[in-house]
Amino acid sequence: MLVPSGLGGFYAGSTKNNTEKKWVIAVVGSDVLLFSDDGANPRLAISSDEADVLRFFCERRLCLGQWHGGDCEVWDLLPEATACEGFVRSELRSLLAHSNDAEFSLASRATQLLDWQRKHQFCGQCGSPNKISATEHSLICDNCNLNHYPRISPCVIVAVTLGDKCLLARHANWPEGRLSTLAGFIEAGESAEQALHREVFEEVGVEIDNIRYIGSQAWPYPGQLMLGYIAEAKSETINVDGIEIAEADWFRYDNLPSILAPPTIMAGRLIKQFIDEAVELYG
Ligand SMILES: [Zn+2]
Repeated sequence: MLVPSGLGGFYAGSTKNNTEKKWVIAVVGSDVLLFSDDGANPRLAISSDEADVLRFFCERRLCLGQWHGGDCEVWDLLPEATACEGFVRSELRSLLAHSNDAEFSLASRATQLLDWQRKHQFCGQCGSPNKISATEHSLICDNCNLNHYPRISPCVIVAVTLGDKCLLARHANWPEGRLSTLAGFIEAGESAEQALHREVFEEVGVEIDNIRYIGSQAWPYPGQLMLGYIAEAKSETINVDGIEIAEADWFRYDNLPSILAPPTIMAGRLIKQFIDEAVELYG
């Protein structure tokens, strides 16, 4: 099967191609098991031969799509699987720092589909048990014919800029010194742009303009889709809401807080883009 090169080897189809080579993503709870046969470079995608030892601990299996041309399944494992030789348990967050976009998408999909299935065992309309569809990633209620699809929650995240400065804020439940871009869920009926205007105004009292889309990232905590933007502030005065946001301030591109999100996550990517553009203009 041909896969567009921009997908990095991961194709999120719902059907199996019955390929000879098969891949397994091993999941324990909300973590993944990485495998290394020589103690170095633990891998996320495990061949079905390598995964065979885990079969005894496997409670559920689901097709995730294709990985580098082979069918790929997620296995939901009992915690005892962690003791198998060569396997190391890893949180998704730490995987993010060491993997590329395609690998992180694959891991996100694996944990999200399991989590979604676990939480949707019964039909929300009539209460009958749901069944797994054989043709697509959905759960079906035979009693009332309702299809249930994995829930994805879109969020907007934005670096608000003012000339050579960027607005960074601290959430009320974050420790002192941790500042980042603003973010929030898109409400029912809202466009992404409307959500941006609303969130920024609610959280810091600033109106924005010239919204630019930068990119998106699946964020499996759980099922979020982060849509990343850069926008310009219309004015400098900040009024923090004092509920969600404890403090917020403007920071020049060459005088940013020392602790910032890494560019592997959307907040860090937006901040990096702001810095790159500011260096070009003001450096
Ligand atoms: Zn039903």
